[in-house]
Amino acid sequence: MTGPRRALVTGGAGFLGSHLCDALLTEGFSVVAVDNLLTGKSSNFDHLRHDTHFEFLQLDINQPFDCGHVDYVFHFACPASPVDYTAHGIATLKVGSLGTLNALEVARKYNAKYLISSTSECYGDPLEHPQKETYWGHVNPIGPRSVYDEAKRFSEAATMAYHRTHKLDTRIARIFNTYGPRMQLNDGRVIPNFMKQALRGEELTVYGDGNQTRSFCYVSDEIEGLLRLAKSMEHLPVNVGNPVEFTILECAERVLAVTQSKSKIRHQPLPEDDPRQRRPDITKARTLLGWEPKIDLETGLRLSLDYFRKAAEEKTSAQR
Ligand code: UDP
Repeated sequence: MTGPRRALVTGGAGFLGSHLCDALLTEGFSVVAVDNLLTGKSSNFDHLRHDTHFEFLQLDINQPFDCGHVDYVFHFACPASPVDYTAHGIATLKVGSLGTLNALEVARKYNAKYLISSTSECYGDPLEHPQKETYWGHVNPIGPRSVYDEAKRFSEAATMAYHRTHKLDTRIARIFNTYGPRMQLNDGRVIPNFMKQALRGEELTVYGDGNQTRSFCYVSDEIEGLLRLAKSMEHLPVNVGNPVEFTILECAERVLAVTQSKSKIRHQPLPEDDPRQRRPDITKARTLLGWEPKIDLETGLRLSLDYFRKAAEEKTSAQR
């Protein structure tokens, strides 16, 4: 990636999208972020308002769009938490299909490189553990998570079709659970929920017995992996996640330790189709990109503490 370059980030007002905008600006790109602000927040780039290399366009990528010449398209628009994509199921399906096709068309028009944020949800409730990129997954196509899972699987298929048919220079990142500052406090994901509850002295809501597992990647590690993938020549999917696996009960314990909270744990019903285990095999990312995460869960939670503390102190009415 050399010369004067302009990058488009769809979903640029979201958690990952806004961190990606920051990283691309640091890399010397000028950045145009587009977002319909369904789940993103323009306050995520308040700090960029006076940066002449950054612009924000509030628009709906489910309609064909054109924001001028770009050298790179990063397609990150999509509700990403189970609570958000359940509340916005049809919007999730639309952005993963129409939005993805429109973003691919932008890349095709300008002969731009293209990277899509896909997901570990492509593996569904996996029967293979840890999950390698070659695993085809175990996905319920009609369950409550299907709006997200199938939208992302369609997005991957569309991306590969543009690569094969139009020779588009594409990349597919399979992103596993990621956390850090700028996550919406109320998006329902486990780390914001636990941090909010611990910091407010409320009970931590563990769904099911808490023995289901996830593998959490701190946002700066994730963005570094995504940038390395963007610079690589790999067109097939690459897992970008932290391979250290925790049960949800262990995650709750880490949050209690970092926040020094005395909150108790309260078990609640496990949501339908909640994957029992999830851990990326990152051999491919290690070999191909020379990348692996550096920040362990406890360190990442400490790095996120100020953000979550401020967010948790804000009045409920000020939250999304
Ligand atoms: N979870 C939980 N309590 C919460 C929120 C989530 O026990 O308050 C569990 C959830 O059931 C799942 C895991 O934490 O097993 C991760 O959930 P999250 O919504 O963060 O994302 P997912 O990995 O399921 O997409």
